[in-house]
Order: sequence, then structure tokens, then C-alpha cells
Amino acid sequence: MKDFLRILKYTKSYYLYAILNIVFNILTVLFSLVSLTMVIPFLGLLFGTIQVDDIKPEGFYLTPESLKDHLYYEINLIIQSGEKEDALFFICVLILTTFFLRNLFRYLSLYFLTPIRNGVVHDLRSSLHKKVISLPIGFFTEKRRGDITSRMTTDLVEIEWSIMSSLEMIFRDPLQIIVYLITLILLSPQLTLFVVILFPITGFIIAKIGKSLKKSSEKSQQKMADLLSILDENIGGLKVIKLFNTEKNARKKFDKESNQYKNLMTSLLRKKDMSSPMSEFLSTIIMVVVMWFGGKLVLGGDSALKPEEFIGYILIFSQIIPPAKSFTTAYYRLQKGAAASARVYELMDAENNITDSKNPISVNKIEKGISIQNVSFKYENSTILNKISFNIPKGQTVAIVGKSGSGKSTIADLCARFYDITTGEICIDDINIKDIRVFDLRKLMGVVFQDSILFNDTIYNNILIGNPRASKEEVLEASRIANAEEFILESKNGYETNIGERGNKLSGGQKQRISIARAILKNPEFLILDEATSSLDTQSEKLVQNALSNLMKKRTTLVIAHRLSTIIDADEIIVLNEGNIIERGSHSDLIKLNGHYKQLIDLQTIC
Ligand code: ADP
Ligand code: MG
Repeated sequence: MKDFLRILKYTKSYYLYAILNIVFNILTVLFSLVSLTMVIPFLGLLFGTIQVDDIKPEGFYLTPESLKDHLYYEINLIIQSGEKEDALFFICVLILTTFFLRNLFRYLSLYFLTPIRNGVVHDLRSSLHKKVISLPIGFFTEKRRGDITSRMTTDLVEIEWSIMSSLEMIFRDPLQIIVYLITLILLSPQLTLFVVILFPITGFIIAKIGKSLKKSSEKSQQKMADLLSILDENIGGLKVIKLFNTEKNARKKFDKESNQYKNLMTSLLRKKDMSSPMSEFLSTIIMVVVMWFGGKLVLGGDSALKPEEFIGYILIFSQIIPPAKSFTTAYYRLQKGAAASARVYELMDAENNITDSKNPISVNKIEKGISIQNVSFKYENSTILNKISFNIPKGQTVAIVGKSGSGKSTIADLCARFYDITTGEICIDDINIKDIRVFDLRKLMGVVFQDSILFNDTIYNNILIGNPRASKEEVLEASRIANAEEFILESKNGYETNIGERGNKLSGGQKQRISIARAILKNPEFLILDEATSSLDTQSEKLVQNALSNLMKKRTTLVIAHRLSTIIDADEIIVLNEGNIIERGSHSDLIKLNGHYKQLIDLQTIC
């Protein structure tokens, strides 16, 4: 419930709409009341119980009593002046007008409620997305994407519904119930007192159902998240599923979850569906009690309640039932919504420990270089890096080689602060990167990743990410340097070709060249190439290599590579094995050493 109140805080910025909504709600209720009470003189006229009483009421007040006196006086005037039918016609027109206004105001109140409802959901969705994007990479290895998608879609829809009903519950229903109740008390205090006693009993029953509804709702939302995760994985891994002929297994796994979701939803909807017949029956019980008790008052004949007043009473009372019912429906929805908002806020409150320090230092140039001192790191339990130390002086290139899984990419991730280091420190110009403004740190860096990360957009826009302010000429130049221009111009729409989801319409080498062009466009102070040419054939590698060599020339660079060609000119080569530096030095030094590095190189030359 606390989470839900937090969501309601988002309504703050829509207070103007809220005020308008409340104003029109009040008008709606007033006109409903007038239109209904109008029935009393109508019946009085038919039954002939309206007393001709032509004393003009004194003054005009906005009290029901005064309004009633004035109305009766007017009707009397018509009756006395001529036909009763004229009075009937007068009342009918009056009823029509008030009903029209009541519905007009009702529409207007909803008209102003809608922007609040949609606005709050939009704000929530947007800040949720902002949060998801700001979370550290490590968060997403533990959480599945489908789970996050489901929190941002189905849970938000659930919240939308519960917000809508709760807004009505806050702004409209209580107002209606209170105004009607006051009118009922004025009409017959005894009868109303009797009715009010029955309310807590119904409330208790309703609360019981609500609680169990919330539990089922939590379960079903979680199931939906599981389903979306499986779908996401299946689509992502479709090639493998098809190739290994495991469609049947994939289907089975999905169907099993879907079936569980179905069963959960069936029981949930059954519980929810119970709320309506239940509340209808409860209200019928109250209605019958009113008829019985009120009928006795009328039959008693001591004019405690006139017949037409009693009918008017029942009419108004019947109008209390819809808001009371919607109040209970809103309560159920709120219970469901509370489960959804708890899930949304779990994501919203996820801790982000990779943020700016208290007084972040702005750095926009590298003067001395980068130093990695005594860095140890573990993802979960096993140590991935063990007391690694090396320097990359400004303008120099350091290469890391080693078997796959030895922790090379992890070093690159640590430099970009995708993860924070357990012990030791990484410094740029002797400033710990934890103290540098995260935005500045990443602005300094250009990384070409092992697996190219591209977006479902045009080639041009994918390169432009490197520097959104670059001119068209610069983008073309970057792709030329990355040796990508040829294949770009050959594709259907040139630079405007859409490359599909994650760049799937391109080959691995083409994707890599676009990533390289992107890094070239950024023109970073500190360049990291993480097996940037691994997907290129020998010929294109040579061409790209030239480009990369140019790029690396006067730049502080960390190269992670398994190909000899990339590292041969590096100022220092570090050989990594299971998180430990086992050899280091220049290419010729390491060859002389005749150790691990020599072995690696020999293996490559044979291949
Ligand atoms: P490589 O030298 O091939 O680039 P990595 O740095 O990618 O190696 O990985 C080093 C080790 O860290 C591997 O054993 C891998 O299993 C583990 N690892 C990589 N990423 C994660 C992660 N997000 N969570 C847990 N372990 C990881
Ligand atoms: Mg790697």
C-alpha cells in the first residue's frame, strides 16, 4: 500500500486537472440529487398529496429545505393558476434538464480525470525507463530481461487501472456517498441509521476477498514475467532452437509456464468476478431491509415518512449503491495494483552503486596516463583478476593477450566502470576513476567490443552514436577509415539502410567495422579495442588494422587481441592467465623469453 501511495504522489503535477475534476464531480452529485428529489413532487402531484400552500418562502438559501420550499411554491403557483397537467409538464422538463446537466458534468469530470490517469502512468513509465538505463551492467546479469519488460508493461497497465479506479475512489465516490447519505438522513433519520449499521458488516466481507486477490495477483504477475523471459530467450536463440531441432522442447517449456499462468489467472478472475455478484447481493440485502423497515414506517401512518418521500428515498438510496459498489471494486483493484506497484518499485528502488562520488572531479583530458594498481575482482565467488598492476602512459599502447576466459574483457569493463573493483584502484592521471564524474570518464573512452552492439536503426545513425554532433562529412570519413564505406554504399539504401534488430542484417565483420567507425567518430582520449578485429577476414583485417594503427598512433590505447598483427607494435604486452599476469614486456622481449607468449604466437603462425 505504501508503494501505491508513492505512485499517487505523481498526481501532484496534475493538480489543476484534479481540481477541475473535483468541481465537476460536485456539480454532478448536486444535479443528480436535484434530478432525483424532483421525483418527490412529481409523485406528490400524481397522488394528490401536495398541499396547496401559497405562502411564499422567505429568502433563498442553498439548503435542501429552502430549495424544496421554492420548488413547491412554484409548482403550487402553476397548479392554482390552471391545469395540473401544466405542472406535470413543468416537472418533466425540469427533470430532463437536470438529468442532462448531471450527465454533462459527469462527462466533464471524466474528461479532466483522463489526463491525470494517463499522465501518471506516462511519468511512471518514463522514470522507470530512466532508472533501468541508469542501473549498472551487473544488475542485468542477475535479472532477466523478460522480467524487466513485464514490470514495465503488464505491471504498469495494472497500475493504470488501479490508479484510475482509485482516483475515482478518492475524488468521486466518497463525495457522492456523503451527499446522498446526508440527503437520506434529512429524509428519514431513523431509516438511515438502520442502514448505516449494516455497512461495516459488508466492509468486512469485502476486505477478506481483497486480501486473497492481492496474493493471487502477485503470483500471476510473476508468472507473466517468467513467460516474457522465455519468449525473449526463444526469439533471441531461434537459430539454435531450429538447428538443434528443439522446437518441441522450447514449446513445451513455454506451454508449461503459459498453462500455469492460465490457471493462476482463472482463479484470480474467479475471485475478482465474485466481487460483483457478491456486492450486488449484499446491496440487495440492504435494499430489502430498507424496504421492509421503511415500508413499516409508511404503513405506520404517523406521517414519519410519506409514501412519495419513501419512494424518493429508495431512489436516492439506489444511487448510493453504484458509488459504494465502485468503491469496493476500486478496493479490489487497488489490492491488485498494490502487488503490481510493489514489483515496479522493487525495480525503481534497485540500488545503483556506480554513481558519481560526493564531489566528482571533472576530467576531459588525459595528461599522464592510466594506471591499474593491484586490481582484484570477482563477479560472484571465484576470483577473476588477481592483483593486476600495469600502466598505460599517455599516447602509448598496451596489449593484453591470453586464453579465452582469462579476464581480458573484464579489465576493459572495469576501466569503463561497468563494475566497481573489489580491491586496488584504477586511476587516470592519479585520480581514482571512482572519483571522476561517470559522464566524463565515459566521454574519455572509446570501446570497440568483442561482440558489436548495434541498434535497430540506420547505418548512419548507428555510427553517429559515437558523436551525435558530428557532421555528415565526418561520419563518411569515419566509415572510410574503418574500411566500411564499400559495403555501406553497396547496400540498398546506402547509409540509410536499416540494419535490423541488433544489426542482424549484417555479417559479423560488417558489424565490427560499423562499431569501429563509431569509435573513430568519437575520437576518444582513451581507446579500448576488445578483440575488435576478431570477426574480420584476413584481408579486411589488414585494411582495418591500418586504420586502427592510425587511430592508435598518438592515443592512449588498451588492445585486447589474439591476433599477432594487432599487438606486435604495442609498447608493452601483458600475458594474462587465469587472472594473473604471467609475462610482460615488448614483443621481442617476450619472444626471447620463450615462454607462454612464444607458445601463443607459434600456435597462431601454424594456423
Ligand atoms: P576474456 O579473457 O575471454 O575476455 P572475460 O573477462 O570475458 O574473459 O571473463 C573472465 C571470466 O569471468 C570468465 O571465466 C567468465 O566466466 C567470467 N565472467 C565474465 N562475465 C561474467 C559475469 N557477468 N558474471 C559472472 N562471471 C562472469
Ligand atoms: Mg573477452
